Amino acid sequence: MAGKVYIVGAGPGSADLLTLRAASRLRAAQVVLHDDLVPAEILELCPVSARVINVGKRCGRHANSQEQINALMVWHAQDGKSVVRLKSGDPAVFGRLGEELDALNKASVEFEIVPGITAASAAAAAAGITLTDRRAASSLVTLTAHTCRGEKLQARGFDAKHSTFAIYMPGPDYKRTVRDLIESGVDAGTPCVVVSNAGRKSEEIRYLSLAALSSASGIAAPAILIVGEVARTEYDKNSPRHEDSEKLLAEIAREVKDSHLPLSL
Ligand code: SAH
Repeated sequence: MAGKVYIVGAGPGSADLLTLRAASRLRAAQVVLHDDLVPAEILELCPVSARVINVGKRCGRHANSQEQINALMVWHAQDGKSVVRLKSGDPAVFGRLGEELDALNKASVEFEIVPGITAASAAAAAAGITLTDRRAASSLVTLTAHTCRGEKLQARGFDAKHSTFAIYMPGPDYKRTVRDLIESGVDAGTPCVVVSNAGRKSEEIRYLSLAALSSASGIAAPAILIVGEVARTEYDKNSPRHEDSEKLLAEIAREVKDSHLPLSL
């Protein structure tokens, strides 16, 4: 009997952010082909009898070509196996899903897609912000700083003042990412938040301006960058500029008290 391929989103990298459906497909898997970003605690859900293969492609180290991954999926499914193709986040967001679906369709292999929590959602939740806001951002634009043709990051064509940009793979050259965004019309003073390891124990969050990101260092990967007015409240609360304005406000309050002026100045 022919097998089936389950293309499963593993979420941002902690088992409790996996969907129940994803967990159930993993528990029933006979073959699991997973990416590098999928952590061990999720792989532990696979039956001990399952063949678990890391087919991850890290920058500069191509463990398996896309063609090899496609061939592995098709071969195991045609061998009658229940195959899980486990991808980080949501499989349909910057996950080369299109190429894999083409291969499955061409070989007439049955498949099911199980969505997952994408990095932008996990990062926004961690940072305590919203990705859209009817008062500030009426569009959400997902971009990547890495394309197979090496094109520039392009935010042109979007209303930069009323959009949120969620940028996957923004590093390691943040200077270039910032330059591309500014060149395509995003203001250098726009607040942003960069979240490394969103949803994991090692999560790190930095609120800064786009200009300040240009000279930031030590941002751990994987990281996602969210740029836009939606990040303003947390930026205002957490940026050094806010500490200065807090000090200023405290000074003003003191002066007001000393001069016996009404505090409602
Ligand atoms: N399909 C995935 C994205 C794959 S591209 C998804 O929907 O999330 C890989 C990029 O996703 C990384 O370079 C990084 O920008 C982002 N990413 C994945 N997991 C992440 C995490 N836990 N924290 C921050 N960024 C993450």
